Formats: sequence, C-alpha cells, structure tokens
Amino acid sequence: MPLPTLLRLHVLLLSLGVALAVLSGCADPPVAADAQAGADGVEPDPREPDDLALKSGLSCHPRSASGYTAGARRAITVVDVDGRPVEINTAARFLEMQADAQAAGVSLYIVSGFRTMEEQQYLYGCYLSCNCNNCNLAASPGYSNHQSGLALDLNTSDWGVYDWLARHGADYGFHRTVPSEDWHWEYLDGGAPGAGLCESGGATGSTSHGDLAFVGLTPNGAYRNGLWLKVKGGAHHVRYFADDVFLGASEDRAGGFPVRVTVQYLGAKTFVAKGYDAEDTAVAETRVTLQVVAGETPKARLKFISPADGGSFAGGMWLKVDAPASAVRAVYSAGPYALGESGVADDHFAQRVDLTTSGWRVLQAVVYDRDDTELGRAYTVIDFDAPAATVKFENVTEGNAYGREVVLRAATTGPVAAVEFFADRWSLGKVATGNSHAVLRYTFQQGGRRVLRAVALGTRGESLGEDTVAVDIVP
Ligand SMILES: [Zn+2]
Repeated sequence: MPLPTLLRLHVLLLSLGVALAVLSGCADPPVAADAQAGADGVEPDPREPDDLALKSGLSCHPRSASGYTAGARRAITVVDVDGRPVEINTAARFLEMQADAQAAGVSLYIVSGFRTMEEQQYLYGCYLSCNCNNCNLAASPGYSNHQSGLALDLNTSDWGVYDWLARHGADYGFHRTVPSEDWHWEYLDGGAPGAGLCESGGATGSTSHGDLAFVGLTPNGAYRNGLWLKVKGGAHHVRYFADDVFLGASEDRAGGFPVRVTVQYLGAKTFVAKGYDAEDTAVAETRVTLQVVAGETPKARLKFISPADGGSFAGGMWLKVDAPASAVRAVYSAGPYALGESGVADDHFAQRVDLTTSGWRVLQAVVYDRDDTELGRAYTVIDFDAPAATVKFENVTEGNAYGREVVLRAATTGPVAAVEFFADRWSLGKVATGNSHAVLRYTFQQGGRRVLRAVALGTRGESLGEDTVAVDIVP
C-alpha cells in the first residue's frame, strides 16, 4: 500500500472513529478481488495492545441477527469474540482454532466478523462513490459472506499468523477465499458446533452435542392430525420418527426444520427428532409425547425412486417419486428452496434439478391429486457434491481495444442458469445460458477504459463466480 494511501486511511480512522468492523471493507465473493489490482482492503489490526487485552476471547451475549446468504435473509445467532460480533457456529470453530494456535505460540485474533446490512450498505456505497473506506471493493449488500456470518478477517499481518493459518486453517473448516486478501477466511465446512457454546457461561470452544427441543408443542397436549413438527437447536438437518417409523426430514434450520405429519392411528404418540451434523452423523435427539386427535385423513408416506436415500451424487439429477395412481402433480423442494414440479405421471413425476450447494441435502416431494388435495410426502437425504461453476469471457481479452459495438460472449461450466454482464458498476443485462454460452450485444455511448464483468448466476439468482477483463472502447 503506498504511503499516501496509508495516511489517508489513518486520517479516515481517526476522523470517523467508526468501528473497524465497518471500515474493514475487503472484497468478498462475488466481487472478484484478484482482477482489481490495488483495491485490497484496509490493513487489518490497527488496534492498541490494551484494547486487544480487554477484548480477547468469548463474551456470551447470544442474540438474533439478520444474516444474508446470496441475498436471502435468515435469522442467525451472534456472539462476541475478541470484541467483534461473530455468528455462533463460526465462533465455536474459531475458538477451537484460536486455542490451538495459542498452544503453538501464535496469537490469532478476529479483526472483523459479522456485518449488518447497514454496515455492508455503507461499504458498498463507499465502493460506488469512492468517497470513503479508501474506495475499497465491497460485495453488494446481501452478498458478502461477512453478512452470512461465515467470513472472518484475521490478524494475518502479525508474526506467524498467516503461516499457521495456511497450514492448519482447513483442519478447522476455515479457508482463504479472496486471492488478494490474505486476512479474509471463511468457515465453509458447515455443521453447527455453536450449540451449547454459551449455555453454561462456558467460554470454552465446546463443539459438543447440539441439543434439540420441540417448538410449540406441549407434552401430552392434544393436537389435530396433520400437525407441524418443529425443533430448535444445533443441527445441520433433522429427521423425525414416531414408533420407529421415519416421518420426514428437513434441512431448513432457519425455519425450525419444519415437517408436516399425519399419523395412521390416533391417540398417544411419541415423536422423536434426531439432529445430524454436516456429515450426517447423529449428534442430538429429543422426544415429545402428544395426544393426536381427529383431524386430517392420514396421508400416505411415499418414497423417492431417485435419488436413493443415503446415496452420494454430483451434478444434475432426476427426481422421481413413487406416487399413487390418483396423483397428478409432484412438487419438489430442498428445505426452503423450491426445486420445481412435474405433472409427468407416467414417468414417476420425473423432474431434472441442478443443486448448487454441496453437503447432505434433504429433498422433499409433495404429491397432489386432481382436486389439489395432498396425497402424501416423500423424503430422501443424500450427500451432494456440487460441480464447480465457472464463467469466462471468450471474445474480449484484457488490455485490448474494441469498437463501441461489442458482442460479449462468455462460456460457462457447471449449473449456471444465467450470466449478468457489467461494465464498471453498471449492469448491461442478464442473459440465460444456452449450450454453456451466454451472448450479449451492447453498444457503448462513449469510449474509454471499461472493466467488463461476467457474473455466473445459479437457478435462484445466486452468484456462482465471475470473470473480469479491462478493455478500451475506441469510438
Ligand atoms: Zn473479509
């Protein structure tokens, strides 16, 4: 970083007196950092040593916050580590890592953790206007992994820290994801080690035993048939059982792992919820006995024909469900995400889907008859390995000159539904991919240098990657 930049930065820090969490505006995916030479973030850790001593470690004031993943809001739990707000599961893993680093003689601290929407909007505004935050790159609001709670900026400029992280970070699920920012690490291996972190006032990095509890159900209370089972607690996904019969499963943690069930026989029923970690290992269990009284007619428990429960899959797959003869429609979902629906009764309601998130996934099919009455539900829990999505400009190259009329052509691999093209910060348009290509014709009004960007979008509009080239437009 050149000296004038550093001076400007210090003036900024002093004059604003704003928390570093706000100012540490490093680039996060989907903004490509490596293509933006010199646009790296603030030097981490200008804190005073006294400040550090006061703020080190875990302080348990668990609270709910609005996290954002790929633009979608969801409730997350935040605690304070090293004086910074950090998502609870990220915090639990970080504390383990910090303790082991300390044992190896390396002092590891968090410089910036979870960011609120307001903070990200501020940083993004700075990036657009270049009036603040040193004009650093920032992901658009809702799309920074500092908002999902997964990203931490660490004190990698301190002695030994970066080397230790490079060797051991992955053992704790932390990965460096922004090429130009060696301080930006993300907890990508999933799981919910944060449950219980703050329960006995314990400031240990305990990863033990996500505990589960049913929500909204009073033991021995009477409930009409056709009831929602929901639990809260630390798990990646949850399966429900009654009398050892599998009822359903959910990966929708934010929604309380909701599953709607009907029972065949009324009366006292003991419902069991089992929580599993990201590796599908059982980590928690809870049960409640309810009196189920007359309500809906019992629904059939249906089965997926494809993909088979417990299997491993990669890439696109066909969903098929074994449905009764009166079925006319099957609707598929994965947790809160709709996967589409099929009316092809004579091929088991086959529906092609491209999942984009790796890990154990819970898929659900709800089957309806001609009157739109639900006939039953099917569940399958699979280990999914998402193919890498890439996008690359094919016909414009870094540093070359082009006329005002440019055909932008990008090649994609993996589950890319559309490509959005940008020139500097302006969107030129969004084009659906066909045959692994997206093409956009655009006429520039003025000449000059333009940074062209092609952003690969998944089926839910989430960013999967991008390519950037700087070119000259010659009128
Ligand atoms: Zn960062």
